Amino acid sequence: MKIPILAYHSNRILGNTYETNDLIALASDLYTIHAQGFRIVPLRWVVEWVLGLREEATLHKAVAISLDDGANFDYYDLDHLHWGLQKGVYHILRDFQAQVGSSAQPNLHASSFVIVSPEARREIGTYKGIDWMTDEWWKAANESGVMSIYSHSWDHNHPEASTVCEKNQQKGSFLTIDTYAECQGEVQQAAEYIHQKIFPAWPDLFAYPWGQSSNYLREVYFPGFPDQHRTIAAFGGNGGYVTRQSSRWDLPRFGSAAPWPAGWNSTEQLVQILRGALRFPAASCRALYDAVLRSKQRLAVWIRRRSQSSE
Ligand SMILES: [Zn+2]
Repeated sequence: MKIPILAYHSNRILGNTYETNDLIALASDLYTIHAQGFRIVPLRWVVEWVLGLREEATLHKAVAISLDDGANFDYYDLDHLHWGLQKGVYHILRDFQAQVGSSAQPNLHASSFVIVSPEARREIGTYKGIDWMTDEWWKAANESGVMSIYSHSWDHNHPEASTVCEKNQQKGSFLTIDTYAECQGEVQQAAEYIHQKIFPAWPDLFAYPWGQSSNYLREVYFPGFPDQHRTIAAFGGNGGYVTRQSSRWDLPRFGSAAPWPAGWNSTEQLVQILRGALRFPAASCRALYDAVLRSKQRLAVWIRRRSQSSE
């Protein structure tokens, strides 16, 4: 079984069309997913299945939705300074639910991976004097039943953050986060802060900034220090489906507006991603082909022996 995870940025608002606006794309994609017969489930369900903690049957034709960076458009309807009033993700989900009926998509859910450091958010998210990345909505979103708040790191090692956890203040890539101290800053410190805001919940999923992770993060820090970060899985962003064989510390996602096949830019491409989840992976096709070939060969041997013995 293969499960597509979709990733959006609610502040990707460069116009008011599907191609230029992730909020408009998401609002449209929910109906596409529904029409294709897929069920939207919480991202955590997919992780539980990968970890062997959830029945496969609960994820048949499932898709999960995630959001990166934690812009206020995740929760609020806001007047964009250039592109007018935008319906936020929370209301997009609620309006969709009201439209199709809550029993039609009973597990409708989106997971929001937020940038955590208040200073970094102010520096990255302030535009024309308005702070577009606040945290007072995190608890309400997390307790809404349709959204969860998880970590997208302390400072994203973002070029616009003045001080970052990175050892040499070398910004713009998450690949350089490769020591215990940096990981504690980016992961553990971030989780503690979110925990205070969404108490008593703990954010146990992580999404790597830009989908990037060092070997140290994937192979040493996450598997080696579970009592510190209390994280159960981490997401990258290079396209591809989540399977039971996926690495729990680098689960793939498809990105809205990312170039095909790492992501999709149209309804048609999204439909291809969804339908692709129903196709057998190449490995199982090959195994099936080999099994058929072997049984044909056995049958031929049996027929030959039979005809020889009857001669
Ligand atoms: Zn990001």
